Amino acid sequence: MTVTVRFAPSPTGKLHVGNIRAALWNWLFARSRGGKFILRIDDTDRERSTKEFEDGLRRDLTWLGLNWDDTFHQSARFADYDKVADLFRREGLLYPCYETADELERKRRLQRARGLPPVYDRAALRYTDEQVKAFEAEGRKPHWRFKLSQSPVKWNDLIRGETIVDTVHVSDPVLIREDGMYLYTLPSCIDDIDVGITHVIRGEDHVTNAAVQIEIMEALIRTRSSGALPAFAHHSLLIGADGQGLSKRLGSLSIEAMREDGLEPSSITSLLARLGTAEPVVPERSLSALAASFDLDKVGRAPARFDPAELEALNAKILHETPYEEVADRLEKLGVSKALWEAVKGNITRLKDVAQWREIIEGAIEPVIEDKALTEAGVALVPADPLSEKSWSDFTSALSAKTGAKGKKLFMPLRLALTGRANGPEMAHVFPLIGAEKARARLRGERA
Ligand code: GLU
Repeated sequence: MTVTVRFAPSPTGKLHVGNIRAALWNWLFARSRGGKFILRIDDTDRERSTKEFEDGLRRDLTWLGLNWDDTFHQSARFADYDKVADLFRREGLLYPCYETADELERKRRLQRARGLPPVYDRAALRYTDEQVKAFEAEGRKPHWRFKLSQSPVKWNDLIRGETIVDTVHVSDPVLIREDGMYLYTLPSCIDDIDVGITHVIRGEDHVTNAAVQIEIMEALIRTRSSGALPAFAHHSLLIGADGQGLSKRLGSLSIEAMREDGLEPSSITSLLARLGTAEPVVPERSLSALAASFDLDKVGRAPARFDPAELEALNAKILHETPYEEVADRLEKLGVSKALWEAVKGNITRLKDVAQWREIIEGAIEPVIEDKALTEAGVALVPADPLSEKSWSDFTSALSAKTGAKGKKLFMPLRLALTGRANGPEMAHVFPLIGAEKARARLRGERA
């Protein structure tokens, strides 16, 4: 059995940290098992699905490194769905209903008022021929519901353990709208079976759907005498650092916003791969390394907290460990040399911050003179170009010997004069990049 999983976004919005976590876990699971990762575009909703959203989600997945082995659109498979719908109608599994949205809402209100759960009462199963004729004469078109077994559906969820949902508490799901449009449920079941999906890994907001889908899939397997039920794994959802759900902030948590903000894809994947699992969150630039340690057994059931501050900190750590070669093309665009990168990468949160240091080191700054006597004494002691890594200790030892200044009293005025800032990268790395001539001018207090 080849492990086959899918990520099935609807192209009706942008991907955010919540849904990309499901994509990542599916991808990691596939790669850790030598399996296949399929990108299915759930675009049965022709009004809300757009090409822009689809292009956007493919761009996001590609940027994160989540490549797919195969991809398809549900909108290309309506003929296959029609065949199953006909089969289900013949089997009495799919039945026509004529209630309007208002009528259904009124029913639910009445049920609630009586303290009953708002489960569809199956009135449509008791229509007489006259009633149906009358509905049709009014110009009503039916929507179609699947007839659930109204019994406990049990499965061994690979994250939640044994899970039971009694479909007596669930309304028979509408599979086809009155305008003929398929809702997500039936196409998803057909595709999962036809494609041979072995594991469905997704958020726990789909647990009730799973019971419904298991009944539909079992009906499919029975009526067509082929196919196999996938295993299910439902993970908890992300919450914000404040313990609240993420739904209100999703705009700023979109992958696109994070990319535009200058975050590294590997900091996002490092965090999301491990958040809510027994494994520690560590900076990991390689997705295959993350895959090697990924296991559904290590996933916990508690909601996991997503904290943007943790993502920032991880981004800084990732950059700190990134060799020049991995980002050479991006650095070239910013005019940043290998030496400059190696000198400052430990002091930036986003790669683009490197440009500020390039300005400080290679451009002109207004020096900050805190101890005029010290910095002026330093002018004559700056070694001749080309400066090396050793030049800084030669220079500061000589200056200390001459003036008696030590520790912070020696180093802080020098840093302020040479960089205009109270903190930053190791001066031993920065000094040779500034160069002797510019260093002398800055020590004299001149803009250089
Ligand atoms: N298109 C569905 C969604 O985005 C897919 C859910 C599933 O994984 O089955 O919610």
